[in-house]
Amino acid sequence: MDRLPVFLNLRDKPCLVIGGGTVAARKAKLLQRTGAAISVLADDVSASLQEEIEQGRLCRVDAPYCSELVERFLLVIAATDDQAFNHRIAADAAAAARFCNVVDDNAASSFILPAIVDRSPVLIAIGTEGNAPVLAQQLKNQIEAWLPARIGELAAQAGRWRKLVQKRFADLTTRRRFWQDFFTGPIAEHLLAGRQAAAEKAMRAQLVGNVVTPAPGSGEAWIVGAGPGDPGLMTLRGQSLVGRADVILYDRLVSAPILDLARKEAEMIFVGKTAGAQAMSQDEINALLVRLVREGHRVCRLKGGDPFVFGRGGEEALALAEAGLPFQIVPGISAALGCAAYAGIPLTLRGVSGSVTLATAKLDKDLGPDWPQLLNAGHTLALYMGVSSIPEIGEQLLRRGLSPELPVAIVENGTTPQQRTIISSAFALARDAAAANIVSPAMVFVGESIRAASKLQWFEQSVRNRDAVLDGGFVSHIDCQQLIETG
Ligand code: SAH
Repeated sequence: MDRLPVFLNLRDKPCLVIGGGTVAARKAKLLQRTGAAISVLADDVSASLQEEIEQGRLCRVDAPYCSELVERFLLVIAATDDQAFNHRIAADAAAAARFCNVVDDNAASSFILPAIVDRSPVLIAIGTEGNAPVLAQQLKNQIEAWLPARIGELAAQAGRWRKLVQKRFADLTTRRRFWQDFFTGPIAEHLLAGRQAAAEKAMRAQLVGNVVTPAPGSGEAWIVGAGPGDPGLMTLRGQSLVGRADVILYDRLVSAPILDLARKEAEMIFVGKTAGAQAMSQDEINALLVRLVREGHRVCRLKGGDPFVFGRGGEEALALAEAGLPFQIVPGISAALGCAAYAGIPLTLRGVSGSVTLATAKLDKDLGPDWPQLLNAGHTLALYMGVSSIPEIGEQLLRRGLSPELPVAIVENGTTPQQRTIISSAFALARDAAAANIVSPAMVFVGESIRAASKLQWFEQSVRNRDAVLDGGFVSHIDCQQLIETG
């Protein structure tokens, strides 16, 4: 981070805009929205600036520019079309320890103006540190489109009710929960729909009546699937719960951007495996969950993939149910589905595969000796936790009379930029996996529909193309330099 985003209170503060053209007028207009006391210095001013000056909304500096001038202002915007002059202003401002923005010159500016989404009092500032203004603009447009139109009114109303709520709920935790529920609940819904009177009525009932929001001591557990790796594959419901939890218990396979959704005060507890060693036994995790919920915490139990597919979410939910504690379960995209989609392996394919089994690769132990029955023609098998048993899987397939040509695929680190797919066969599996040095986590798929992957691999291809561009594989660094030099 090269620059700190801040929201400055400029009301009645002296600010100077140097330049009289349309860019200067635009900057002055932006500053005017904050109630700043703006002065303009220019030989000639545009008609719109002239009008503002005549109306007394802007003040014109009559004297010619001198270096000491900037000292009288808190902020200076250099918006002339003379770049050397702009740089002189920036140097004067730096010497006087004043902040200065030089339009269209990130390097010369000690502050830059972000792209702004203004639904006051909700303000969103977007910056790319001068690298990609067009991207900032596009992000602004996307946020504008996604943000509810009346979000500003909602925030303003919440501000007006703050004191009342503070009085009604003295306890900090209860108050935070009140507001968490408020912004996702019916009162906010009324306000966002423009039903002010209905919102006020509902709020009165909430504050005066007996409708008490969760008191401390009423915790809940949310057992949430984080998906297979790509953070974009997590559900909106899951994301929202991560952002509301007091405590987060998470596993190794949960990716960092998902953990970043947590509130900054949330306690993060790692309960997964590192280098083969389990941080906590399953019994300890169950006991911890029960204890935290009993203490009144909102606990998010965050798991890779789906909690009910080889995620031991069932055991945790049972422990909570037996303790009589409330819980919710949010599904996630399981590794089999995520890896199959991102590797181009249709789990079912009309005329080729009509059923799927999700199984652990510890075949004999967990599925019993009949597991090859699962491999009738027209079936796809998706095996979890198979890395250590890959040679054994190939051997068993052959020993049980399946064709040596039967396709087998391994997808390692599926849905992440590190994804690798190895397409092999029952016969060549052990050799191909050893040559590729497959590591955990990986899924093993068995079945005829894998053949389609040769035409359907889209993801690794796009990641490779991207890396090639980044590495200079397509456009070499020298080419770029030449492009720049030849304009
Ligand atoms: N609940 C999880 C599975 C946990 S068991 C789910 O629904 O996906 C852990 C196994 O899941 C790993 O051994 C591996 O076989 C598989 N797995 C999880 N994430 C994976 C990924 N990104 N790529 C490949 N396999 C993955």
